[in-house]
Amino acid sequence: MNEQQFPQILTVAGIDSSGGAGINADVATAFAHHVYPATVVVAVTAQNTYGVQGVELMPLAFVSQQFASIADDLAIKAVKTGMLGDASHVRLVAQELRKYNFGPIVVDPVMVAKGGAKLLADDAIEAVRDQLLPLATLVTPNIPEAEVLTQMQINSVADMQQAAYKLQKQGAQNVLIKGGHLLQAELTDVVLMADGTFLTLTDRKFTTKRTHGTGDTFAAAIASQLALGKSLPVAIQLAKAYLVATISTEIIVGHGHGPLNHWI
Ligand code: PLP
Repeated sequence: MNEQQFPQILTVAGIDSSGGAGINADVATAFAHHVYPATVVVAVTAQNTYGVQGVELMPLAFVSQQFASIADDLAIKAVKTGMLGDASHVRLVAQELRKYNFGPIVVDPVMVAKGGAKLLADDAIEAVRDQLLPLATLVTPNIPEAEVLTQMQINSVADMQQAAYKLQKQGAQNVLIKGGHLLQAELTDVVLMADGTFLTLTDRKFTTKRTHGTGDTFAAAIASQLALGKSLPVAIQLAKAYLVATISTEIIVGHGHGPLNHWI
């Protein structure tokens, strides 16, 4: 066994004490893909399947130190960023990512948890737009996040395409807008590729409340597939298939919005 067989990715995000979202979802997803996950912990949350009860952000210097430790030793092939907390942490993470060559960067611009808790301060939006999007090989907002980043109202697939163009203008090379929040029978995700072409992923909507960590899982699966050498369109499609599989078969954890099943 060698580095090639189990390529290494880095997830830069927050820990979910209940295990379903954030870094916990990223680690489960990476292992399911036979990819090795390193982690830079930016935030620790006290949370369960009912919601987020508390958030602590790591000291900035300690976030930097985690990056340095990883860069000194591991051979990271792709990065995923998730919950980053506030503007100073977003700026620092962008600065650290510029320092090292860790390969393609999947930016999941996490803002609000499903239960409504804020995972990114309002004053951090500008930092995400100005510092992080220009580093993104792929940015993966859901519709509310895309609306905040583009200042657009998104009510249709055509709106999603317009928003994707805007996010590309803001610096992201490729854009994936997740359509779960759109009020229509089918779930449509819109992907704008760097060359200006669109890829559309459609699926039925799942009627489960066990969707805690879906965004994290999707982005981490894409980063894992990129580390395995897949092209971006293939990585996105395989990641979507993985996500659908983890939602399709339920595991029972907690009493609220439960986690996905990574034992598929
Ligand atoms: N907690 C952490 C640490 C996260 O990173 C995220 C999502 O990215 C969440 C909670 C929210 O997950 P969900 O919106 O699926 O509840």
